[in-house]
This record gives sequence, C-alpha cells and structure tokens, in this order.
Amino acid sequence: MTNAQGGCLCGNVRYEAGKQPTRVTVCHCKFCQRATGGAYLVEPIFNAQDFQVIKGSPKKYVHTSEGSGKEVFIYFCDTCGTKLFLTFERFADVVGVYGGTFDDPNWFDLTPENSKQIFLGVAQRGTVIPPHVNTFIGHATREDGSPITPTVFDTPQVIKQR
Ligand SMILES: [Zn+2]
Ligand SMILES: [Zn+2]
Repeated sequence: MTNAQGGCLCGNVRYEAGKQPTRVTVCHCKFCQRATGGAYLVEPIFNAQDFQVIKGSPKKYVHTSEGSGKEVFIYFCDTCGTKLFLTFERFADVVGVYGGTFDDPNWFDLTPENSKQIFLGVAQRGTVIPPHVNTFIGHATREDGSPITPTVFDTPQVIKQR
C-alpha cells in the first residue's frame, strides 16, 4: 500500500500520504501527552511533498517549544477538535502525523528499524516499551543536532510508578 488516507472525527478534514513515513517517532513527552490526551504519540514522519490535505482546511495553532524556543504548528479540525498533524519551524520539510488519525493506523511500518522511543524519562506508569528499539530518556539529539547514545532493551520494559 503506497497511498493512505486519514481524517478527523467529523470528516470535515481529510488528508493523504503517498509514501511510507521516513521514520516513526513514539514520543512520551508532556507536550505529546497533553496534545493527545493519552500516554504517548505515535508520530509517523513524512517528507512534506508526500503529504497533503485533500478535504477541508484545518486550523493552525502555533506553539512555542519550551526546549528549543522554536515554533511548532498543530493542525486541527475546528468543528470536532481532532488534531491531525504537525509541522515545525525547525524542520521545515517534514510533516508529523497524529498516527491514530489514519483510517488504518496499521498501514505504515512500525519496526525497531524505522522507529525510536523518546522521552522515556517522563513516560506514564504502566506504559510498555518494546524491546530491540532505540530509546532515549529525552530527545534523541542535542540542541546542536549531535546524536545521543540510545538505550536498547532485550525485553519489554514497564514504566514503574514514580
Ligand atoms: Zn472534524
Ligand atoms: Zn513529544
């Protein structure tokens, strides 16, 4: 499958991705917890040219990142409130999608090879971290873009009560 669609709860906004994501970020940070209302965000990342809105026009909320001071743009349906995707001042050529808004959230690959788990340091209790995947306590890179050494577990890890 090379072409997948998704959209909001009410159906006013629809989008399409023409290719598999370049990577998938599973993010446990507080921003993603608050923005999803859940424990974490499964965020497939697409090149901007491989992603387009095909119906409606989502509203844009501009959020200033506490860490970098850069702007993050959150696109949502102003009828039903569903958040659909993100763009970034810092990474202008990519789109991050709220993965659960795809009609079939299982259409894109999610493997240890194409994904990473970040911000485990603030992950909610009871969250299960899969084995063999690169994990990080916070970001995967430093402010200057240099990589941080990942931790890889051999067995599933359950985040403990803090
Ligand atoms: Zn809607
Ligand atoms: Zn996050």
